[in-house]
Amino acid sequence: MIARKFHSTTRVLLLGALALPFAIGCANTNEPVVSSAVTECGSGAVVEGRGLRIVTTVAPLTSIIANIAGNSSAQVTGLVPEGTNSHTFEPSPSAAKNLENADIVFVNGLGLEEPIKDLAEANIEDGAEICELGTTVLPEPDWIYDFSFPKDGGKPNPHLWTNPPMVKQYAELVLATLMARNPENSAAFTANFAKFSAKIDALDGAMQTATESIPSGNRKLVTYHDAYAYFAKHYNWTVVGAIQPSSFEEPTPKEIANLITQIKNEKVKAVFGSEVFPSPVLEQIANETNAQYVDVLRDDDLIGGPGDKEHSWLGLMRFNFVTMVEAFGGDASALRALDVSDVVKDEAVYPQ
Ligand SMILES: [Zn+2]
Repeated sequence: MIARKFHSTTRVLLLGALALPFAIGCANTNEPVVSSAVTECGSGAVVEGRGLRIVTTVAPLTSIIANIAGNSSAQVTGLVPEGTNSHTFEPSPSAAKNLENADIVFVNGLGLEEPIKDLAEANIEDGAEICELGTTVLPEPDWIYDFSFPKDGGKPNPHLWTNPPMVKQYAELVLATLMARNPENSAAFTANFAKFSAKIDALDGAMQTATESIPSGNRKLVTYHDAYAYFAKHYNWTVVGAIQPSSFEEPTPKEIANLITQIKNEKVKAVFGSEVFPSPVLEQIANETNAQYVDVLRDDDLIGGPGDKEHSWLGLMRFNFVTMVEAFGGDASALRALDVSDVVKDEAVYPQ
């Protein structure tokens, strides 16, 4: 299954170097859980007699990885504080110590955490590795560029984790990597993955059900932060626009005027603000267009605090999905009925 497990040298993935064959949502029981193509991550040295030391970046990734790594004595440490702008985050020099001690540094990649990646490359030890989840699972032709992530800026939209089938691919890659690096805990990793994978499928199914309940003309997204490109593609929603420019500053008056025209033309029902990126212009846009103003979407900031029941990637997605579905006049009861608790006790470090 895993062709290249035991390299002792550090390997760093190159952007777009891999194209993985497994299809979104495929569940053929004759196939191995993890595609044989998932081999580049997991190429560091095998760790025995202790848990893996894992460093991650944003809280949603930390939660996904903690769900797979649980019950193995692994230490999982996130670096990006919850509720901060992950796109412009610069790690403090003290993060170098975490990176120096890490066996695996999981980043989203696709250009999201370049300063952390640079610091990791400069500080990880021989036998350790950097695994870029998004860059590895998403073939380059499927990268999405848009207003907030324009092609000439060189960084595609990195938000794969709002699309549950893509998170399943992340989880598969994390599983393969952990099994390769710490085979003595493979049984725990595999059991965690099986449970987590079922919860991802349940979330996806509930979101499909909820989508069907929304009048099709209402499934038009305008958000402040541009986090739903891959989500919208999967559920067949339309991203009419995101307001935040690639500079992460406020939009220009001309951009605002264009967006107001677009929202009116498309008869957009609601515009969604972000608690991580409060925007003074968003309410004005809503007022001028008669769209409902919903200012509670959460980007990278899990529900509650560490240890709380919904402080998880699953809890975060459920909250955002329910918020959007109900603002569009849909029925979110399938989503509300989900159990979004972690599959294993989450002992990861989430900086606040
Ligand atoms: Zn973001």
